[in-house]
Amino acid sequence: MIVELKNTVAEKRANEIAQELKAICIHYERKYTLITPSATKELDAKFQSEADRVTVLNDDMQLSSRAWKNETRTIDINGVKIGGTTNNTLLIAGPCSIESEEQIEQSAALLKELNITTLRAGAFKPRTSPYTFQGMGLDGLKLLAKMRDKYGFNIITEVRDATQVEDIIEYADIIQIGAKSMYDHGILRRCGKTTKPVLLKRGFGTTLQEFLQCAEFILSGGNPNVILCERGLRTFETKTRFTLDLCGAAWMKQYSNLPIILDPSHAIGYAYGVPDLARACTAMGVDGLLIEVHPNPKVAKSDASQQLNHDEFRTLANSLKAVAGAIGRKII
Ligand code: PEP
Ligand code: MN
Repeated sequence: MIVELKNTVAEKRANEIAQELKAICIHYERKYTLITPSATKELDAKFQSEADRVTVLNDDMQLSSRAWKNETRTIDINGVKIGGTTNNTLLIAGPCSIESEEQIEQSAALLKELNITTLRAGAFKPRTSPYTFQGMGLDGLKLLAKMRDKYGFNIITEVRDATQVEDIIEYADIIQIGAKSMYDHGILRRCGKTTKPVLLKRGFGTTLQEFLQCAEFILSGGNPNVILCERGLRTFETKTRFTLDLCGAAWMKQYSNLPIILDPSHAIGYAYGVPDLARACTAMGVDGLLIEVHPNPKVAKSDASQQLNHDEFRTLANSLKAVAGAIGRKII
């Protein structure tokens, strides 16, 4: 149950009521809002006069639900807006990993040429083997920040574990929580204490309910700026790396108020399929796409098979504009 208190209720009183209701108290849209377990179905009569609105919910997908707020949240990333009434589809692009200054400079130049605002690359890589490239770490993060300062991008990069969470929060404009960290409560809770936008990727073996409840950890920590990212599930199929859950994306559009980004690159795992999938994702009318592109994919130090080269990406970016335009949306 979500209890929005009247804006005349002060912090001290809001905390007292929260304690009695065993609720979490956040300050949202200029008033205190209490979130109880969803099993609580009624507000005690003694608090009624202090409440503005009470929303009873079926399950613990609460702050992220359309049952509470029936519109997609607007997320403002330093003036670049998605969600709400914007009809923007944010194209997030860049190499899987930052590998050198020369490489990230080439990526940045490509994005600048195509008027893309959001550069993504990993500095701390959560690899599936300890013997492969693990990312450039803080040096990589600083190179990414250098590209932001030079070209005016927003940058997005992944926090791999709690040891770099403070650095990522300091440098990134959007904090990425990867699929393998979806359940990392240290990261989720810390990201609830900033207001920087967080892109939360769905774990590849998790249900939509589990995914949305992880988003609730960030939202109920006080950060309203959460973006969901579907990046493919592990299924019985072995021909593709994962299976992109577009049904799940449709469900999230229907039932969640958080913007949705789709990641065809990690889903299929092979560059040949990324352009077709990216166009299909755009046609769904989601809030953004995440595409991996590398100056020379053959020698990429991570995710080599799925990264587009610059020419392939140029062609794709142009075709996405037409697809978005056909459904009244705009690629930004
Ligand atoms: C990535 O975005 O480079 C990545 C590691 O993705 P995921 O967390 O979806 O596996
Ligand atoms: Mn990758």
